[in-house]
Amino acid sequence: MIQSEVRDTTTADVVAELRRRPAFVMVSHVKPDGDTLGAGLALGLALRGLGKRVHYFQQDPVPRNLRFLADSELVSRQVPSDLPADTLWVFCDMSDTSRAGEFLPPIEHRNILDIDHHLANARFGAYNYVLETECSTGTCVLKLLDAMNVPVTPPIATALLTTIMTDTGGFMHSNTTASVLRTSAWLMERGADKEKITDWIFANKRLAAVGLLGEALSMARVGEDGKYCWSVVDDAMLRRHGADGEDTEEIIGHLRSIEGVDVAALFKAFEGDVRVSLRSNGRVNVQAVAQRLGGGGHFRASGFTFEGSLDDAFVAARDALRAEGL
Ligand code: 5GP
Ligand code: MN
Repeated sequence: MIQSEVRDTTTADVVAELRRRPAFVMVSHVKPDGDTLGAGLALGLALRGLGKRVHYFQQDPVPRNLRFLADSELVSRQVPSDLPADTLWVFCDMSDTSRAGEFLPPIEHRNILDIDHHLANARFGAYNYVLETECSTGTCVLKLLDAMNVPVTPPIATALLTTIMTDTGGFMHSNTTASVLRTSAWLMERGADKEKITDWIFANKRLAAVGLLGEALSMARVGEDGKYCWSVVDDAMLRRHGADGEDTEEIIGHLRSIEGVDVAALFKAFEGDVRVSLRSNGRVNVQAVAQRLGGGGHFRASGFTFEGSLDDAFVAARDALRAEGL
């Protein structure tokens, strides 16, 4: 798209900025996943290797299944008070700054770098490195590291492979191109610990999560001639299983994997919010569906927060899905 080419920053210009700045704050989004966090950690580790000052801001705690990542112990909601005026704030994997939460101090526009691969990124930074064809924000970071000629150490390689495995669903989603597999192999040759990533992220479910999954699946409903499947998780369900929000992640993939289902939705009505996750098999653009309701994401995976009751959220989601061709 010509418009985005005009507004986006070249690799060389981003690299010049990374070299010029003395200090950085990596910013990841609320309800963090392996891409937002892994991308920031990989870039942070590389910049620390160059002697730069690096902090990691994230509103929410590091999810249990990502605590194996190097530097994840440095991630905090606190921002130091003595940052230099030309500190660069690097937002990873989010289409607008509101996704970072409410705890960020005001940041001058000239100090914002936006690295992302989402459709409809708002280009909110002074520097916008938005590569919509990349499978993860981490592989956008890898392009920068490559252009900077910095060594990809085993901890950096592991963080980057985590971003890929998260956003390809362990190499299962359609964004798993031959090039993604080649990049992954290259990262493994540089010491990326694939087995550790698999163990921590994909084979490390708490019993509470499995119990919750069972209940959410037993409550699943199918509509729209079998093309739409949805379920709910609420506070009472979490309490029954001793589970929390992190234990909900697996559910939606199961709903989507049912034969004939084009779109799945999971309505998460707990902690005072109604958060909705959407997944598509590629027929319906769920990014457009979420955008209608104030959210965003990707063609096949998106989400939004609904301001209103759970019953109203069901109706709003179904209306928006129909409007997008479900
Ligand atoms: P999830 O369902 O795992 O929370 O999110 C799926 C995808 O949608 C992720 O790529 C995430 O970044 C995006 N997403 C989820 N919620 C929101 C939201 O409220 N706003 C925007 N812009 N994107 C979202
Ligand atoms: Mn991502």
